[in-house]
Amino acid sequence: MIDIHCHILPGVDDGSADMKESLNMARKAVEAGITHLFATPHHLNEKYVNVKRDIIDRAVRLNDSLQQNNIPLIIHLGQEVRIHRDIFTSLEKEEILTLDDNGKYLLLELPSGKVPTYTKEVIYELLLKGITPIIVHPERNKELIENHKLLFELVQEGALTQLTSGSINGNFGKKIQSFSKKIIEHNLSHFIATDAHNIISRGFSLQHAYEIITKAYGIERTFYFKENAEQLIKKQSPFIEKPVPFKKKIFGIF
Ligand code: FE
Repeated sequence: MIDIHCHILPGVDDGSADMKESLNMARKAVEAGITHLFATPHHLNEKYVNVKRDIIDRAVRLNDSLQQNNIPLIIHLGQEVRIHRDIFTSLEKEEILTLDDNGKYLLLELPSGKVPTYTKEVIYELLLKGITPIIVHPERNKELIENHKLLFELVQEGALTQLTSGSINGNFGKKIQSFSKKIIEHNLSHFIATDAHNIISRGFSLQHAYEIITKAYGIERTFYFKENAEQLIKKQSPFIEKPVPFKKKIFGIF
């Protein structure tokens, strides 16, 4: 399996603390059936700044250590960028790192409490530059939980999204689990990833999430998500299903 969102790089954010922990995380990822993993440290999220060249250096070092320790896992490049008015300045300064540095797909994080007013503008501008934002864990965003229609609009505009496996598994509570299902049912998600931060509380529960998806929606739906992650590794475009709008609530008819 391929995991497109994970905090495995040592000492850069609230994920792995050091190389020893990164190697332990890598061993767990392999045990969980993961062969390729995008290392996606936080960037611009008010606490962490991890620019492109630093991530590349650390990812090269981690790949070397994995080889030396005979751990069959390949680290790919990535970054989880908090939406920011200055994102384009950061892009110009070559601080932003798209997935595999391909200039095409970028993990974009919204603040957990809201969707900033400039979100649609940022998505539009990124798309104009040929970069498709993949909004990470929309199911955990407070404003989107209250306003499903807004998520539909962001996807309709051209953003892709990634659900976190732990949300599907129920680790973040029933509300987030049920919103995750609605997102899948309305074709508003394109990837499932672990967003693993460690091996204890936030690990590599990808297989379990796929099992839940298969049980609820059939194996085809699981293949869809798995193939989309593979498309990124193959430097090809993911498959995008037509988003289904949420039905309006009708009040006062009866
Ligand atoms: Fe993350």
